[in-house]
Amino acid sequence: MRPESLPDTLPRRSVLAMTGGCAVASASVAGVASATAQSDEDSVSRESFAIREGTAEETTVYVTTSDPSGPTGFVIGGMHGNEVAGYKAAGKIADWAIGTGTLVTIPEANAVAIERGTRNDEHGHNLNREFPEWGTPGTKLARAIWDVVTKYEPDVVIDLHESTGIYGGNASNGVGQAIFTGEGSNEAARVTDYVNRNYVDDPDLAFQVGGFSSPNARPQDLLVHKASRDLGAQAFLAETYSGVSLEKRVQWHTAVVERLLTEELSPNGTVNESEPSAQTQSQSQPQSQSTDTTTESTGSTSSKPAAKITPLPTWTSVSSLDRGQTITLDASQSKVPSNNLDCYEWKVGSGGSFKEAGEKIDVTVDQNNYPVALRVVAENGSTDTDRVTLSLGC
Ligand SMILES: [Zn+2]
Repeated sequence: MRPESLPDTLPRRSVLAMTGGCAVASASVAGVASATAQSDEDSVSRESFAIREGTAEETTVYVTTSDPSGPTGFVIGGMHGNEVAGYKAAGKIADWAIGTGTLVTIPEANAVAIERGTRNDEHGHNLNREFPEWGTPGTKLARAIWDVVTKYEPDVVIDLHESTGIYGGNASNGVGQAIFTGEGSNEAARVTDYVNRNYVDDPDLAFQVGGFSSPNARPQDLLVHKASRDLGAQAFLAETYSGVSLEKRVQWHTAVVERLLTEELSPNGTVNESEPSAQTQSQSQPQSQSTDTTTESTGSTSSKPAAKITPLPTWTSVSSLDRGQTITLDASQSKVPSNNLDCYEWKVGSGGSFKEAGEKIDVTVDQNNYPVALRVVAENGSTDTDRVTLSLGC
């Protein structure tokens, strides 16, 4: 897979817009020529406020709301002041637009430690060991952060960190290039799979999934543990390896958060239905119901392919393109049982027919509501079709 690179500054109309509004509607419902512009910036409200105001620990909480009745994501960086990529990425994420729900961000959680460039504050307090489960956080700063968490009751909590070593199944050499999460979550595996395929060149730097330590084992009293166990939030602690360039680490953190929020905040599961690792989903978990009305396969899909069009870069909103813009459409997230893919066929524009083409195609948008269809053909002749409508500045 060719690695995609994230720009230094993410556009305001970020990938989160794909979880609702135009993108999902036009990608999921055949024959819908245009959709309501729920992801426009003017439908997103932003506020910010300070915690620990007037102290050296004062820091800003950013709240972006698109649909208050939707799910809530919480992203925090800078718990450790020397883990630069985490708070740099969180600072960018605070500026993202979202298509649904609420995004709460505390980019620089431990302002004192960040100012000092040290892991802990001047008293040696490790902020990420101050959140005892079912207890009161251990410092004023930790209590202020926890007050924000409980105020917004997030469905998803993501804490961004860095490590000087690479995680190898245990933490003895470090915990970098890993996403840690609680039991029963397949999201981290799906996200690491996606990020590794699209953003990691070196297999030694592939992200892995680690589990949270049990309540009686160290490390203890982490924010993500408390959010998971006290509040039932889907909680993730992402670690990059600090031995690569800051730009790369910020890109990885940004991509991890983007994918975690896209999956978790997707209200109807339409975004994740064809993720390639979906077959690893635990059988004890209910399957997310597909709302895709364009699929031509019905009943059991166990032996049939599932077509999936994904725009690249992944934050591209297919409903807010510029005239003349070229967009890459990627079929690689389609599912083909037993890897018995025969070919990908694409139909671009309202006329014409399906033609065999590659896994990725480039489409230049020269008219509004431009339809593109992907047909995945398996060797046994079974097919599935996904459609997307490319729209101009909806
Ligand atoms: Zn850390």
